[in-house]
Amino acid sequence: MRLPTTPPIYLDHHATTPVDPRVAAVLLHAMTTAFGNANSAEHIYGEVAAILVADARREVAELVNADPEGVHFTSGATESIRLAIAHAIAAPRHGPLRVALTTVEHRAVLDAVATYERKGEVSVTWLPVDGQARLDVAECAAACEGVDLVCIIAANNEVGTLYPVEEIAEVAGRAGARTLVDATQAAGRIPIDAAAWGITYLVISAHKIYGPKGVGALVVPPALDVRSSHGSTPGTGDGTPNVPGIVGLGEACRLRRLEMADDEPCMASQRNRLEALLLSGIDGLVVNGDRSGRLSNNLHVSVPGVPNDAVVSRLRRHVALSTGAACSSGAQTPSHVLRAMGLSEALQEGALRIGTGKFTTDEEIEQAAQHIVQAVAATRIMARTGPMPVTAPAGARSAKAVRAKPHLRGTGGL
Ligand code: PLP
Repeated sequence: MRLPTTPPIYLDHHATTPVDPRVAAVLLHAMTTAFGNANSAEHIYGEVAAILVADARREVAELVNADPEGVHFTSGATESIRLAIAHAIAAPRHGPLRVALTTVEHRAVLDAVATYERKGEVSVTWLPVDGQARLDVAECAAACEGVDLVCIIAANNEVGTLYPVEEIAEVAGRAGARTLVDATQAAGRIPIDAAAWGITYLVISAHKIYGPKGVGALVVPPALDVRSSHGSTPGTGDGTPNVPGIVGLGEACRLRRLEMADDEPCMASQRNRLEALLLSGIDGLVVNGDRSGRLSNNLHVSVPGVPNDAVVSRLRRHVALSTGAACSSGAQTPSHVLRAMGLSEALQEGALRIGTGKFTTDEEIEQAAQHIVQAVAATRIMARTGPMPVTAPAGARSAKAVRAKPHLRGTGGL
């Protein structure tokens, strides 16, 4: 399957970002020219590769103000999270690891914690959020007393709400707990100061910041030996490091450090324009999350009672956006984030996650708004009038499959 010659407008940057051509250029160089094994540095090829890896480590560290010695390359955020939690579990103590975590963490954190909880190695304290997915720092402070590890997502991957990482890390530090900050969506978009904020484990992924897929980092204070809980981490010297991926991550971090301050306000104004167009074009549209403290590229909306999968299907040829977070299997499940926020069934059913990006143009914003308004209007009519009677042509989907999702019938825009 190929993308069409006129591909749909891409507005799903929370799922992944396109690789910046400048990142792709250094990556290609590391694959084809500087292709040495960084662990085999007796000759110039290996030496160059080792230098590239060291440079990338410095770039990652610089983006989040950390010590390069504490940067461990991984295959992405999921592996970084697992490594961090495994390391925290391995620390000597009596009884299970007492973990406090928000109800809106990414699945990667929830699943890792649940796995250890089932084995009796973790006990959980939940940190609830309000209707805009915000945390109450005072409530967190009380809940974090006596815990060993506090997990906080820096920016939510669905509704984009930003979290007070500095304050929570301070609360955790006062309680004698470690902090795991999932900065997968936030790094390179908002300033992060791992050293000054006393973050124990910081998680980064390249493919969310215009870098390649399959590479990320776990950033820890240099004294912490995260390898002891895992045996080894990719890129740290035991296996052959993924030099092109690591180089791509480093370049992506360098570009975000240099360009974030200019890019982010532009993306916020595009997002605001899109939001205004949708609010004026769609009756009853609700904007979810914290409008005064969210990622600059995030627009999460609900059209109550209008099934989001029908809208996304109608948009398929025009705009790529999402009904929510894709889990690791790729299946869409009801959003635990929206449920944690206490959104009504109608708001959950009508939820659309829109994520603009660095390369999104103003023209695309205008066009996307028109398409989304039209798709919602058409879906609404369909929901009101019911499906048109159709005579299924030979080879069409079975009547049973069509009956299972009545709002998908007749979606001519597919
Ligand atoms: N954490 C957050 C907040 C995310 O948004 C994602 C990806 O969607 C992950 C973790 C997992 O990232 P990766 O794909 O690098 O494993």
